[in-house]
Amino acid sequence: MTTLKLYNTRTRTKVDFAPIDPENVRMYVCGPTVYDRAHLGNARPVIVFDVLYRLLRHVYGQDHVTYVRNFTDVEDKINARAAETGRAIGDITEETIGWYLEDMAAVGALEPTAMPRATQYIDHMVEMINGLIAKGHAYEAEGHVLFAVDSYAEYGALSGRSVDDMIAGARVEVAPYKRNPMDFVLWKPSDADTPGWDSPWGRGRPGWHIECSAMAHDLLGERFDIHGGGIDLQFPHHENEIAQSKCAGHDFANIWMHNEMLQVEGKKMSKSLGNFFTVRDLLDQGVPGEVIRFVMLSTHYRKPMDWTEKKREEAVNTLRQWAELAEENSDPPADDVVEALSDDLMTREAIRLLQEMADDDRRRELYSSAKLVGFDLAEIAKRPWAKLFSVEIEDGGFLQEGIDYQPTVGVVGWGEIDESLKEASFSLVHRWLSYRREKNWASADALKTAALGEGVELRATKTKAGVNSGLATLMKDTIDPLKLEALR
Ligand code: AMP
Ligand code: ZN
Repeated sequence: MTTLKLYNTRTRTKVDFAPIDPENVRMYVCGPTVYDRAHLGNARPVIVFDVLYRLLRHVYGQDHVTYVRNFTDVEDKINARAAETGRAIGDITEETIGWYLEDMAAVGALEPTAMPRATQYIDHMVEMINGLIAKGHAYEAEGHVLFAVDSYAEYGALSGRSVDDMIAGARVEVAPYKRNPMDFVLWKPSDADTPGWDSPWGRGRPGWHIECSAMAHDLLGERFDIHGGGIDLQFPHHENEIAQSKCAGHDFANIWMHNEMLQVEGKKMSKSLGNFFTVRDLLDQGVPGEVIRFVMLSTHYRKPMDWTEKKREEAVNTLRQWAELAEENSDPPADDVVEALSDDLMTREAIRLLQEMADDDRRRELYSSAKLVGFDLAEIAKRPWAKLFSVEIEDGGFLQEGIDYQPTVGVVGWGEIDESLKEASFSLVHRWLSYRREKNWASADALKTAALGEGVELRATKTKAGVNSGLATLMKDTIDPLKLEALR
């Protein structure tokens, strides 16, 4: 049996993975706080741990892996959203969970075995907090219950920091009722306008961290194999999860795995920089979910990754090529792809191996191996974006000679395309190339923008023979040929 090697953040080493129970390999990944659409960064852990889930299922068997990912449906950001919009909290969380599942399915993520919601686990949390108080690891103060970090000698071990360093470096919420500024909230009081549950400490709601400890314990037991999430969660969230669970007497997770953050064109993704977008924004712009997945996996999960237009384009082209070549079958994936993934999820290497298969015309292997990474190439081949492909027209002088356009390279799947859409695409490229030939850049650019608005991307390229050419890529399956014809 393949032995997985996984990088354990806790020990800072790559270790051989030995499951506690190979009959039931258990993994917990921190899920989203549900008050808004998932942004592109949120999709990274989902895709990374989806690959791990698929790999574990491959190695240990479909029915021998339990994967839990929670929904944080009680949190102050959700309350704030409800106050802003006047909507009921339950409506907001329900709607957001629906969106999340849709968007993550679009990027090819399997649903975890269980997706518990924090609000379903209030009793478990209260019970755990009670236990922590009884053992002297937590204390009640002014309607709050706080975890006493001084009661857990190993606090900080995951992130490798001492409590003093943390106090110096972190934005700690100083409160008069805290014994140590690093003490964190397990329970806090709710006023009449805030969701609350009865508890031994009055009506209130849980702090964020305790939910994961309670849900992991209930669904995965005292000890489980892998705990994952983004590196931003390492401190304080995961540090706090460990402290609570260990002090409650649970062994908790053996291996901690963290994905690095996503950036956009080299910069942090943020609303103020104007480069913030959700997964849905991209899908609506016609970027296929598989393309998002491909770009994400082209960087190793422990490296910061950069979302760029260039990578998106390359991913479209690669997946189209693979989809065209692949031959559906139910063979097991190639050993070297399994090996690459088993070495701490070297997805980049797996993609390189898949490209080799494509280049060597190993069509069956390409199909079965891509499937392990989460690309069903037979399904992708059916998608309009993969089939419609691009229209490429040579500008080899025929424009000058008044000869009508002539398609040359890169026309795939025309059999399935509406003849009028095909004609409209050709003539669109033709008009665009004519503007460019006349050096009428303003008109060329305006046409390019208008075309993109209709779902067609225009690009200047060169044919294999080095001749200038124009490429129209149909990005959607709902393009109206009449509208394309009307663009000038
Ligand atoms: P949140 O809803 O903010 O708790 O985040 C949900 C998940 O997305 C967590 O695992 C985060 O670590 C992860 N995450 C948030 N932002 C990014 C980012 N820019 N890149 C990668 N992962 C992220
Ligand atoms: Zn968590």
